[in-house]
Amino acid sequence: MEFDVVSYLFVPVSAFVFLYAVFTPIEQFFPAREQKFFRREWGTDFCFFLGQHLLWVGLIFALLAYFSQWVDDVMPFTFRDAVAKQPWFLQVIEVIILSDFLIYWGHRLQHRNDFLWRFHSVHHTSKDLDWIASFREHPLDALYTIGLINLPAIILGFPLHSIAAFIAFRGIWAIYIHSNITLPLGPFRLLLGSPEIHHWHHAMGRDVGNYANLSPLMDVIFGTHYCPAHFPDELGVKGREGESYLDHMINPFKSVKSSDHNSDTIKGEDHPHHDRDHHV
Ligand SMILES: [Zn+2]
Ligand SMILES: [Zn+2]
Repeated sequence: MEFDVVSYLFVPVSAFVFLYAVFTPIEQFFPAREQKFFRREWGTDFCFFLGQHLLWVGLIFALLAYFSQWVDDVMPFTFRDAVAKQPWFLQVIEVIILSDFLIYWGHRLQHRNDFLWRFHSVHHTSKDLDWIASFREHPLDALYTIGLINLPAIILGFPLHSIAAFIAFRGIWAIYIHSNITLPLGPFRLLLGSPEIHHWHHAMGRDVGNYANLSPLMDVIFGTHYCPAHFPDELGVKGREGESYLDHMINPFKSVKSSDHNSDTIKGEDHPHHDRDHHV
């Protein structure tokens, strides 16, 4: 098979142009912070953007398709039949609520469990947030998140293409909540996620709260909602800066080998809210 460079590059180039055209003007008109477009570590985040589009997302979805086929083969017909007999809208609502619930607890576990945190902390090393910072994710961390989000649909036997628009919306939303944008949400503050809420999730420390994505309701229900009426002063993970794209890919595996002796930088004990979710 001939390798077609033009069509291989079409997706990342058009995604970049689309996201730049949608988000950059809003970031300039409604900035959460004064920030240059080419701010510190922009190049690293651009590598993450390229890596995801050229390599990882394709691999992750190929793995998911394989897993989905395996689940189809082992799932009893009676279960699938009972699911399919429900009204269509009920199935959609079930899939959305289940995946929101799973991603909330799955994300909370990424912060609690040392092994998962080694990979998830890569996402948290951004010192500045904007739309391109949302792509800073270790591929194994992305596999975990995308797998969890799609798990209910796979188990219920719900065809992914029928909720494709919703999956795309969720993806754009994830980019929006990282953007350097502040928009007044008024009474919708507790219903809709926002950059303000998610930037607090990226504030220094490992367990600030705000693990939900689309709506902060799960955080409100489970007592992890945290959003003062301003953006946090400092973002990132203490002691983690200036790592290259390659460092970010390799370091989580190194940390596994060197056990927990150097875990100061991943405990987040410096943050005043570090024990907030121990009460729950
Ligand atoms: Zn997180
Ligand atoms: Zn984030």
